[in-house]
Amino acid sequence: MTNVPELFGTAVFSEQVMRSRLPKETFKAMKKTIEDGLPLDIDVANVVAAAMKDWAIEKGATHFTHWFQPLTGVTAEKHDSFISPTAEGGVIMEFSGKELVRGEPDASSFPSGGLRATFEARGYTAWDPTSFAFIKDDTLCIPTAFCSYSGDALDKKTPLLRSMEVINKQAVRVLRLFGNDATHLSVRTTVGPEQEYFLIPVELYNQRKDIIYTGRTLFGAKPPKGQELEDHYFGAIKPRVSAYMKELDEELWKLGVLAKTKHNEVAPAQHELAPIFTTTNIATDHNQLTMEIMQKVAKKHGLVCLLHEKPFAGVNGSGKHNNWSISTNTGVNLLEPGDTPAENAQFLLFLAAVIKAVDVHQDLLRISVATAGNDHRLGANEAPPAVISIFLGDELNAIVESIASGSTYEANAKVQMEIGVDVLPKFPKDSTDRNRTSPFAFTGNKFEFRMLGSANSIACANIMLNTAVADVLCDFADQLEKADDFNAALNALVKETIIAHKRIIFNGNGYDDNWIKEATEVRGLLNLKNTPEAMDRFLDQKNKDLFTKFGVMTLAEMQSRHEILLDNYSKIINIESLTMIDMARKDYLPAITAYLKELSDTAIAIKTAAPGVEPTYEVSVISKLAKLQASIASKIDVLEAATLEVKEIADVTEQAFAYKDKVFTAMQDLRADVDNAETICAAKYWPVPSYGELLFGVK
Ligand code: ADP
Ligand code: MG
Repeated sequence: MTNVPELFGTAVFSEQVMRSRLPKETFKAMKKTIEDGLPLDIDVANVVAAAMKDWAIEKGATHFTHWFQPLTGVTAEKHDSFISPTAEGGVIMEFSGKELVRGEPDASSFPSGGLRATFEARGYTAWDPTSFAFIKDDTLCIPTAFCSYSGDALDKKTPLLRSMEVINKQAVRVLRLFGNDATHLSVRTTVGPEQEYFLIPVELYNQRKDIIYTGRTLFGAKPPKGQELEDHYFGAIKPRVSAYMKELDEELWKLGVLAKTKHNEVAPAQHELAPIFTTTNIATDHNQLTMEIMQKVAKKHGLVCLLHEKPFAGVNGSGKHNNWSISTNTGVNLLEPGDTPAENAQFLLFLAAVIKAVDVHQDLLRISVATAGNDHRLGANEAPPAVISIFLGDELNAIVESIASGSTYEANAKVQMEIGVDVLPKFPKDSTDRNRTSPFAFTGNKFEFRMLGSANSIACANIMLNTAVADVLCDFADQLEKADDFNAALNALVKETIIAHKRIIFNGNGYDDNWIKEATEVRGLLNLKNTPEAMDRFLDQKNKDLFTKFGVMTLAEMQSRHEILLDNYSKIINIESLTMIDMARKDYLPAITAYLKELSDTAIAIKTAAPGVEPTYEVSVISKLAKLQASIASKIDVLEAATLEVKEIADVTEQAFAYKDKVFTAMQDLRADVDNAETICAAKYWPVPSYGELLFGVK
């Protein structure tokens, strides 16, 4: 048995560790900084840094790093040792407050989307004391924000922290209206991200250039069995995978990541890990760590962890469910229907705010999950669709409908709901959680945003959510603060908000084609099918207004993200295309030629050995395969020409669209022929492991 409490957080410079290691006054100052976001003065920072260093050295650390999340979507770190020369010519282990709070990584090779002019190539990193430092690979990692010298955010953490502050401010305004007069009142968004992934044996991975270069298979005929028997979901976990999951849990617990649930997923070789939720900021850091540790631990078990959204065609891809809620510092979950009329009224107002925010900013939510990898899931016959809608469940939906229409709500008895006067009828939590096809589902006391890709950082989705909801709350507070009769104004506001935005609510099957038709044609909802289409809306006036109003992102920061994301999309498709050309030319065509030769030699041998006997089987395969081979060869040329042409386009938007329309289409065309050839060619000639082998271990 693993002793979790003993392991838990052993590599984290947590509040507990701070309490035991810092002088009382320093600890108090630190706590204030963490809770109220107050700046830390350098004397305090010096004391904290010294304590942190001693603790880290005792744990075997020799280096420290400012750990940050540049716009590449992965984390970055540059290691410095604690070693410092003394006047006497010796060395000591040192770490100053200045080194703790601020770093200057050579940042010129991180994407800035034009934000960092060449004369200020260096960015700087600034400690985020709200996320605890931890030890990884004998290195003290200090979570930091990453900015340019002029103060532009070059990372994902900075806008996330800003968005948390914005929703805090606006939600507190609303809570005050409900009579909450606590002196220390603050609100945080909380997140628990469920992470899906695939595991494949490393020896097979090493034979697939496509997975190595791009994270997914670019070729591969479907095996006889896929996921149709649904025998993998929650199935018994194989010993190698089970040993992996055990070690993964332990490594995560040491880092303070509350890994909680693990199970097999729908697709063969697919699994999921879910942590216990925490504040959005920490959840984001922890999810980045989780993805990193997942890959690292897999190697130790002879496995490779694939975080790509669609490693295999024909079986489910991997996503990430962003469970999101808002809580007060006193532990009240604002998305939990309460027990009293006042609590219920407050819940309904926050619910209405989320409904409106999601409707008004469908584009932003879609944009927040837009990547080349995730395009294979969203809008491509897979869950969830690219159309955003909200699932409320039957009970809550009936309540919302009755509010909108002013009619009676029928639960056990008929009730006419008057917000702020009546208690909401109890509805069982379970009944809200059975729709798995909704992109944005209410699950009893939180919303589950299910469109995120498995490889995405969750920062972006939460920046959008926090800011969009904060904007609506701000609007609500503006109106209600002016009201003479609070209850009457509240009733009217909730009612009119629901009426105006209930088109976004959909409780049916999100995979149904009829729904997509209704959503787009009748309800006028957006269906942004791919990254270029989605990103094209990012700089709309509505979005510029939203982010600049609250200072979550400046216009320049938005423009830089727009450019980086589109550029990244194009680069990914470019790499995929080049990989396909390489594999098709160097591996598949020669393999087909070799098999054709064997067939041809055999055909001649048969004729010689048995004159008058026709080698009809060999000839028919030769004829099919030779035609396919010629087609593959010409499709390689088409793909190559398209790729060369598109690479020269200067405008990022135009280029991304061209990669999608010209290159990606040519890639699919080539794949179809190669996959077809795979089904005809003798297995021993096929140069890479098949889907059967990758997913089921079948030779
Ligand atoms: P499932 O979605 O598989 O039914 P659960 O509903 O139990 O699983 O929880 C999924 C995730 O939601 C977990 O990571 C959990 O910690 C998280 N979660 C639960 N409550 C909240 C909350 N108030 N805020 C954010 N996340 C939450
Ligand atoms: Mg879930």
